[in-house]
Amino acid sequence: MTAEPFRDSDPPGPAAAATPVMAQYHEIKRAHPGCLLFFRMGDFYELFFEDAQEAAPALDIALTRRGRHDGADIPMCGVPVHTVDAYLARLIRAGFKVAICDQIEDPAEARRRGAKGPVKRAVVRVVTAGTLTEDGLLDARRHNYLAGIAEAGGELGIAWLDLSTGAFSLAPTADLSLAADLARIMPGEILVPERLLARPALFEVFGDWKGALTPLASPRFDSEAARRRLESFYGVKALDGFGSFGRAEIAAAGALVDYVALTQQGGAPHLAPPTRVAPDTVMQIDAATRRNLELVTTLSGERRGSLIATIDRTLTGPGARLLAEQLAAPLTEPQAIGARLDAVEFMSDRPDMRAALRQRLRRCPDIERALTRLSLGRGGPRDLAALRDGLSETAQIRSILLVPGLVPLPELLARAERGLGEHGALVSRLGRALAAELPLLTRDGGFIAPGYAAELDELRELRDASRRTIAALQARYAEATGIASLRIRHNNVIGYYIEVSAANVERRGGSLGADFIHRQTMAGALRYTTVELSELASKIASAADRALALELRLFDDLAGDIMAGRDAIAAAAVALATLDLAASHAECAAETGWTRPEIDAGIAFEISGGRHPTVEAALAGRDSFIANDCILAEDRIWLVTGPNMAGKSTFLRQNALILILAQIGSFVPARAARIGIVDRLFSRVGAADDLARGRSTFMVEMVETAAILNQAGPRSFVILDEIGRGTATYDGLSIAWAALEHLHEVNRCRALFATHYHELTALAAKLPALACHTMRVKEWQGDVVFLHEVAPGTADRSYGIHVAKLAGLPEGVTARAAEVLEILEKGEEAGALARLADDLPLFRAARRTPPEPARHPSPLEDLLREAHPDELTPREALELLYRLKALLAE
Ligand code: ADP
Repeated sequence: MTAEPFRDSDPPGPAAAATPVMAQYHEIKRAHPGCLLFFRMGDFYELFFEDAQEAAPALDIALTRRGRHDGADIPMCGVPVHTVDAYLARLIRAGFKVAICDQIEDPAEARRRGAKGPVKRAVVRVVTAGTLTEDGLLDARRHNYLAGIAEAGGELGIAWLDLSTGAFSLAPTADLSLAADLARIMPGEILVPERLLARPALFEVFGDWKGALTPLASPRFDSEAARRRLESFYGVKALDGFGSFGRAEIAAAGALVDYVALTQQGGAPHLAPPTRVAPDTVMQIDAATRRNLELVTTLSGERRGSLIATIDRTLTGPGARLLAEQLAAPLTEPQAIGARLDAVEFMSDRPDMRAALRQRLRRCPDIERALTRLSLGRGGPRDLAALRDGLSETAQIRSILLVPGLVPLPELLARAERGLGEHGALVSRLGRALAAELPLLTRDGGFIAPGYAAELDELRELRDASRRTIAALQARYAEATGIASLRIRHNNVIGYYIEVSAANVERRGGSLGADFIHRQTMAGALRYTTVELSELASKIASAADRALALELRLFDDLAGDIMAGRDAIAAAAVALATLDLAASHAECAAETGWTRPEIDAGIAFEISGGRHPTVEAALAGRDSFIANDCILAEDRIWLVTGPNMAGKSTFLRQNALILILAQIGSFVPARAARIGIVDRLFSRVGAADDLARGRSTFMVEMVETAAILNQAGPRSFVILDEIGRGTATYDGLSIAWAALEHLHEVNRCRALFATHYHELTALAAKLPALACHTMRVKEWQGDVVFLHEVAPGTADRSYGIHVAKLAGLPEGVTARAAEVLEILEKGEEAGALARLADDLPLFRAARRTPPEPARHPSPLEDLLREAHPDELTPREALELLYRLKALLAE
């Protein structure tokens, strides 16, 4: 019998001191502050005191009581061990950390040994949002990063790792770029030194990530200690072999490794050596822009309808995670992008090969996460099966890639092919070892196939033979007692027993015979045993125990084999993900008719026949979406006018999305595209109140605009949709006007600027790199028809009243509005604006004179101001004079 019967079933009496179990509980609880303690008792994890009070409502389970402590009832709740994952998931999502405290000795054995006191227990793991490894707690298609931020030598560094796959990266960061870096990484948990939390420049960023922060004592982020920790973790003399890292980056990485050791209680995770993401190798995209462009979720928070959902054709978890990672960080090196595009093109040109490859990929389980669970000692039989199945595909996949006579593979695919490795021996061993049906947990046993280990087969035969004997015994007892319904059953508490209905026992005069020993009386039934049955039962139990122990040893053997080849397996996982992603891009391109973009170091932005990937997908069909060109050359900035609903936003966003797709190495929704590398992408589109931060729509708009005007450089790409909208017309127009001048003269970036202030088009005459474009509309029988075509020129009218009519405003209102408009248009305004364009000293932005620094009175002035000559004695006057002289000398 393997299930442990131990339950603290005798609650302490009202006056009793804490039971030994409670004392043990308190000691462990004290050692893990800030965590809910899941305290293992038999088949349950139980929570007590405040833990129970906090967890019960979060888990929607009953809060009960158990015994008393210090004269009060002890609140308690519990969850069954076998469904713990589901409960953990809810608690982690609700922001809790959980310490898992297990029984680390077998209670039956402890009793047999005659051990006194409660079963030994210890925390085997602390579960936090950033350190999850179970499939049930993770999204298969997204990385779950644990990030750490540290400061050293006046610089900031950030490190992040995915414990479930072993991916580990670090990068320098700064006050200004931290928000964008976090938006790119999207960590599930962030370790921060307490000292940094007090830094005013970071208040806002940390405010945004409040739910994910884990503050730790600042000394944990010491860079020298971190260096030593990393060196010993990787068993190297110096970290230089991995790259050259800043002190702050090392401090952050060291804190992560430390935290992992703490939460995994000594489990040795597989972590790849840290790779440095140099700041200028990825496109900077701030959090607002990511949100606005709906890269991974729509503005309403769903994945459906986002860019990633539109392009994702990956078939494996690792492939999907690689896509998410690359989409978050478009590259800025034409060569690296070119290498990815070569791989996609190769796959795109070979539909048959791609189909064969994808057929194979479909059968590949997530070997990356299986490997990590095994290395943390948390793997199960199904993880072995995942490795068997995934690795067995590598050979087939290689033969698909290496069709004789085919042109050589492009670099990225050639590297993936090498990375697939050779796993024949391991696969065949796992194939022989594993049974057809696998339990979730190792301790359930039964996962080793018959025929793999002779000793195991014998033990199982022994057990099965005894079971057959029991079946025969049941028939014999039934005949002997004349009770046909007599049954021999089994449960985890009392083992094997004979069960007979009370009526039958009564009919036999209350006794079944001398051999039958009464054990339990149930409602309507009695339970017995016999000497013969107990002997058989203990034979079965001991055979089963020995079989299980042997299975566990065999499991460890297999896991050991896997650990020995861990680097090669990790490389195969990366290779499979690379192939999956390249094939996914090619598949998407083939389905939707996308083309390979040209990427170079210039500053071109020439999109011919560009389309919006998600709007087009939503319209379901290419015919209904109108493709548009966007050719920025001499004219770096396009001013796009047109009525509401004409397609301005769609046009702006589609160009930003095409740019992102191109720089992640995907084909793009355009007839042709040539793009000079963009290093930063900014957007200011749409607007919503940011009530959480106490900002109005207009304030949000201005904050985003400020970020752009302060930061955009000549390699940036900016899309600005309708700025100055949230305030009075002239106010808004003036801000839009000045912002446009600033973009043109100071930022000198490529930009698309959509506005409904068609007055702005007057600027085109003055700003040489500004060109006016408009969304074409047709008036037809008094209504407007949106053609969704972008053409050179300016909108002569805003057609707001037409749109209002379309929206169903009462006819009286729209007719009256038309009258008012006519009066206004005849008035002064139009003329005034035309003059403004002529009169205003343009390029004021360029000639900005720095504002006078605020003046503070000097100490000399302060002293003089406070002196009252009439009240001074001559001596004091002289002293004052000396003090003034002294101050002057300072
Ligand atoms: P605006 O920003 O000018 O108010 P939008 O870009 O929001 O307009 O577009 C309004 C709607 O018009 C979109 O939801 C889309 O359905 C449709 N639309 C926009 N551009 C196109 C296009 N190029 N082809 C087809 N339909 C389009």
